[in-house]
This record gives sequence, structure tokens and C-alpha cells, in this order.
Amino acid sequence: MSEKFDIVVVGGGVCGSFSALTAAKLGAKVVVCEEHGKIGVPQHCAGLVSISGLKRVGLNLPKKIVENEIKGAVFYSPRGKEFAVGRASSVACVLNRQLLDKHLADLAERAGVQFLLRSRAESLIVDSNFVRGIIVRRKGARETLESSLVIDAEGCSSTLLKKAGLQTLDRSMVVHAIQAEVDRVKKVDMDKVDVYLGRKYAPDFFAWIIPKRDGSAKIGLATTIGDPREYLNRFMQSHPIASKKLANSKVTTLSLHPIPLGGAIPKTYWNGLLVVGDAASQVKPTTGGGIVFGLLCSEIAGKVAYDALKSNNFSARFLSQYQSRWRKLVGFDLAAMRQVRKMLNRLPDNKVDKIIGLCSKLGANRFLEEVGDLDFQGKSLIRAIQYPTVLLIVFYSIFSSFISPDSPRNAPAAANYI
Ligand SMILES: Cc1cc2nc3c(=O)[nH]c(=O)nc-3n(C[C@H](O)[C@H](O)[C@H](O)COP(=O)(O)OP(=O)(O)OC[C@H]3O[C@@H](n4cnc5c(N)ncnc54)[C@H](O)[C@@H]3O)c2cc1C
Repeated sequence: MSEKFDIVVVGGGVCGSFSALTAAKLGAKVVVCEEHGKIGVPQHCAGLVSISGLKRVGLNLPKKIVENEIKGAVFYSPRGKEFAVGRASSVACVLNRQLLDKHLADLAERAGVQFLLRSRAESLIVDSNFVRGIIVRRKGARETLESSLVIDAEGCSSTLLKKAGLQTLDRSMVVHAIQAEVDRVKKVDMDKVDVYLGRKYAPDFFAWIIPKRDGSAKIGLATTIGDPREYLNRFMQSHPIASKKLANSKVTTLSLHPIPLGGAIPKTYWNGLLVVGDAASQVKPTTGGGIVFGLLCSEIAGKVAYDALKSNNFSARFLSQYQSRWRKLVGFDLAAMRQVRKMLNRLPDNKVDKIIGLCSKLGANRFLEEVGDLDFQGKSLIRAIQYPTVLLIVFYSIFSSFISPDSPRNAPAAANYI
């Protein structure tokens, strides 16, 4: 392509489109390259996000994107002990990821962003140690796409990170996830998410059932070992509680996708390059939630990219402010949650059973009151784990992440995009 752009964004997922939208709204000429033929397809995500997180990002979504509203969660221990937490009003919503991706891409397009579909970035163009665009495969041919800056929002594949010589995702902390849509679920609380713990069904993570208003549900799990399809079959067919809820259900869609749980990669910028979203592992290591944090970081990337254009300075030194800014916002929380994830992975099933049993004995309300407003965020978490009830607190942090805001308290509210 002979046209030169200010910014090339690789990946038309939520983070790619949101960073493109932010930069284009400020005045940059932006193009997004997406390898698939349709934005949001294939869909791989459960789409559970906190309502406060969405507000923080400045997103007021059309109703058709929201598949359900959630007030809390029910946790099941490996031996079937149960612990429910919840609030009186909705705290999270279940989003249709295909429609969310499309919505963000539409907003970006309206702000002037150009989308090139079926366009796979194969490599970076590097000249005098600066990224100056990408090599892209389109319609069977290789093309060069020149730009002053590239934003890497390619998700988990790390193709461009390797080319830039940046440290890639911590593969030892990447879980293999499977997500299915099923019809006709039974005996589920329509406004609660089910979370199933236990090594037999989801080693080093958990399995979930997320109900939708139409009686169908999103179910899934992640694991560090083995084939997630086998674990899902086992979960559906032989889990003592879930199998009853799913006895009449048929799988209507199925997808496999990794989730990076290692906390952010050490360096998310280089000369002419910024890295956002899953590509940078800006994902909560405890729950695998990456939408809110990814969007918050992508917004910063869009702004810093525009500032670089204005200053005509694309050096790593200038672009490092992206990393300082996102780290200030979510860096500590990501690091703290990484420690919690490691701790959880070491817990044997019998301990998980004991903790859940203890939680239900204490009573959810009393327990929530006792621990206060811990919303799974860094400093409070670190303070909390100094106490002898350490495991209880750690578990509380997991519970609360399903029912509390997952956006940082000190995050600035972004402009409303609707
Ligand atoms: C099973 C599962 C369930 C999840 N559930 C939740 C949840 O409930 N809540 C939550 O907050 N998070 C959830 N997540 C995490 C969430 O999906 C991700 O954090 C989020 O999608 C990250 O967005 P992204 O834009 O960085 O990456 P992606 O959404 O992966 O988008 C990357 C895009 O880049 C494109 N691409 C990749 N390589 C290239 C290339 N070389 N050239 C061109 N295009 C390319 C891809 O096709 C894709 O469209 C879940 C993840 C999984 C796997």
C-alpha cells in the first residue's frame, strides 16, 4: 500500500479498536489490520465485566450487547461445598463479545479509522532500530504498510513481540481455555455466576457457568495441563453438581483460546512500538479477566501514540511514558494478583474444601462485612495477606472479584464514547 499512516494497529479485537479509536479521536490517521474476515469472529470470551469497570472506561453500551446482568457468584468446592456471595443490585454484566468488538470497531471507523480485514501482520519493518510499519499478508500477497508508530494488539500470539526482541508472555503461566455456549441449562440462579474449583475439572484455574437471559449459558474452564476439551466433557458429564444443571444441554458453539495469567510483560514499548491488551498480558491473573484492564491500558496507548506524533518523537524513551502510566494504574494490582494466582495454584483440593466450608459456616454476609470493601486490588490485598486468616482473605479476594468493581480506585474516568 503506498499510503502512509500515522499509526498501524495490529489486531481488531477490543484493545486494538479502542487504542485506534482514542488516537483517531485526537486527530491521528490510523489503520487497523485484522487477520480474520469479520470483526469479533471467532468469539472466544465469556464477556463478564464489572459495570463500574465499563463506566470507568467510558463505555455506555447498547442494550443488545448485554446478555445478562449479574449480582454475585456461587463457588463450589471440589467436594461440592457451596458458598454464595452477592449484592442487592447488579455488579457485572455478560457481554456478547462479537457485538462488543463490532461496536468498538464501528466507533473507531466513525472516528476515521480504516480497517483492513483478512490482513495478517507477518513482521515489523525495522529501520535504524525503529519500527516503521509492518509487512502484511493481504489477498495472498505481501504488502508493506508504513507508519510512524505501530500498536501491537495481536492478543496472545506474541509474533511481533519476538520480532521486536521484547520479552514474550510467561508461557508457564498461560492457561488453555475452552468456552462453549450451551442451551437449556437447569437449576441455575439467573443472576449469579457459578464457579467450580478443583484439580479434577480445572487444574490451576476454575470452571464456570454463566447464565444468559434466554435460558442458555456460557460454560468453560481453563487448565495448565492436558486437553481442555476432555476436561469440559468430564465437567459436563460427571461433575456432581454441574452435570445435573447441564444434563439436557447441547453445545451450540465451542472455542479454544489461551489466557495469559503471568501479569504484564516487563517491557511494553520500543522505538516506534507500543504493546497493549493480551499481547502485553494486561490480564487479571486470578480470574483471567482482560477486558477492563486491557481497555484502560489501550486508551493510554492511544493517547501516548498521539502525543508522540505531535512531538514527532517515537523513541523508546518518549514512549516509555505509556508503561509508567499504565503501571501506575494497574501495575501493582497485576503483580499482587500474580502472587495470589501462584498461591492458589499451590492449594490442594482438601484445603480448598476446608476454606469454602469455613466461608459458608461464617456466612457470606458476615464474612463480607468482616473483610470490608476489599475489591481485589493491590494494596488492600497485600495488607490483608499479612493477617493469619491469609487463605481466607485470598479467597475473599477471588470471591469479591466477581462481585466488586475490577477497575482501579484511582483510575481517571475516561471520556464517554457514546
Ligand atoms: C475462554 C475465555 C474466557 C474469557 N472470559 C473473559 C471474561 O469473562 N471477562 C474478561 O474481562 N476477559 C475474559 N477473557 C479475556 C479476554 O477475552 C481478553 O483479555 C481480551 O479479549 C483481550 O483483548 P485483545 O484485544 O488484547 O485481544 P483479542 O481479543 O485476542 O484480539 C486480538 C485480535 O488480533 C487479531 N490478530 C492476531 N494476530 C494478528 C496478526 N498477526 N495480524 C492481524 N491480526 C491479528 C486476532 O484475530 C484478534 O482479532 C477470556 C478469555 C478466554 C480465552
